Amino acid sequence: MSYVDEVYDLVVAKNPAQPEFHQAVKEVLESLRVVIEANEDAYRKDALLERLVTPERQILFRVPWVDDKGQVQVNNGFRVQFNSAIGPYKGGLRLHPSVNLGIIKFLGFEQIFKNSLTGLPIGGGKGGSDFDPKGKSDREVMAFCQSFITELYKYIGADTDVPAGDIGTGAREIGYMYGQYKRLTGLYEGVLTGKGLSYGGSLARTEATGYGLLYLTEEMLKCNGKDIAGKTVVVSGSGNVAIYAVQKAQQLGAKVVTVSDSTGWIYDPEGIDVALLKEVKEVKRARLTAYAAARPSAVYHEKKNGEHGVWNIKCDVALPCATQNELNLDDAKALVANGVIAVAEGANMPTTMDATKYLQENGVLFCPGKAANAGGVATSALEMSQNSERLSWTFEEVDSKLKNIMVNIFHNLDAAAKKYGLDGDYVAGANIAGFLKVAEAMTAQGIV
Ligand code: NDP
Repeated sequence: MSYVDEVYDLVVAKNPAQPEFHQAVKEVLESLRVVIEANEDAYRKDALLERLVTPERQILFRVPWVDDKGQVQVNNGFRVQFNSAIGPYKGGLRLHPSVNLGIIKFLGFEQIFKNSLTGLPIGGGKGGSDFDPKGKSDREVMAFCQSFITELYKYIGADTDVPAGDIGTGAREIGYMYGQYKRLTGLYEGVLTGKGLSYGGSLARTEATGYGLLYLTEEMLKCNGKDIAGKTVVVSGSGNVAIYAVQKAQQLGAKVVTVSDSTGWIYDPEGIDVALLKEVKEVKRARLTAYAAARPSAVYHEKKNGEHGVWNIKCDVALPCATQNELNLDDAKALVANGVIAVAEGANMPTTMDATKYLQENGVLFCPGKAANAGGVATSALEMSQNSERLSWTFEEVDSKLKNIMVNIFHNLDAAAKKYGLDGDYVAGANIAGFLKVAEAMTAQGIV
């Protein structure tokens, strides 16, 4: 049996009931096959793949907090410190009822390669909790965040592990967590990113993932003789990534006609009104029905099981920006039938493996999340640099560094794909480029 297959079987056997983690490992290992086979003896001897798929450390903890009725609630807390070969662990904290160890491990594993691709010195980690901030009062969210950090603070630090936001963790949650970390340790350090501007945050961090997604998509189209301007774009999600993806796409001359949330989706043929979307989602924290109520051109659809939702709308470019496995084979078929030319993942692993394969086989330019959404973590690393320097850069400075990073990521993965005879396979290119740097650092650092 090949080394890749052996290690994949080992992952499934040792990590039962973690399908998302298995899926992420399979997708990465499959596309690394050509590189692994070329170095098989050395990698096997050092158990490089076994070490790569095993987190350096997994921290599981209880998070008790008191709700507004005086009732004690208990959530599960997670931090998976996956790989620190090229820098301190870096990756977000997801707060969502669906969070479990397998989800955090899939995200942490992906983060290793994503962080490597940015070219910045950051290792891979991820964390979170099955706490749902939706419908909670500010005091309840604060109580949860303080309890969460009261345990997690022992394991994080500006030079060891620097968490950030993700689904459900925005500026409010990061603020409460940062305050509690400072209170417990007495340290005013860059231990979390995504901080508010008044206490060490970076300009352009809020916009970074969505903007970065568009910078990369623009470059990918350009290198394939196409232009983002004038294109029709469908976006899923209506959170941090989606909102700023819509904004940048419009700035680049595209027309975005959809957004979605977990209960429904909007088709707005005149183009999404970003100011209204921000008001509904960032200020009022309301459902998309509120967007439709305020915008005559918009049609709201309740989400029904088995329907294509936004992927059924005719478009040139599709940007999944909500969550994992939200674009399946049927969705891919609908997109191809409607003439899509490019799909770039704003979310982490939003496209199922069979859907990815179908899109690639049908000539669609496909960029995986670990490259396309790396602008968020890259700008988090820029926030770390500013914190270390005790300086703040201007919006334009950060934005132009972000753009450079995204353009470089695309060229690196394109070159890696070409080098291994996989021209145009950006999934393989991203995995290979991300992997090679980490593998080299792990080998140089010996058996640890
Ligand atoms: P937000 O919480 O701001 O927004 C998430 C959006 O996705 C919301 O519209 C939400 O709808 C929707 N959503 C969440 N879960 C589901 C679900 N199970 N089914 C359908 N819709 C869902 O998160 P972000 O925008 O920050 O993150 C979106 C994706 O991007 C995630 O995969 C995240 O890991 C990834 N990402 C985020 C980065 C960042 O900088 N924020 C960086 C890199 C990747 P509702 O409001 O109804 O829950």
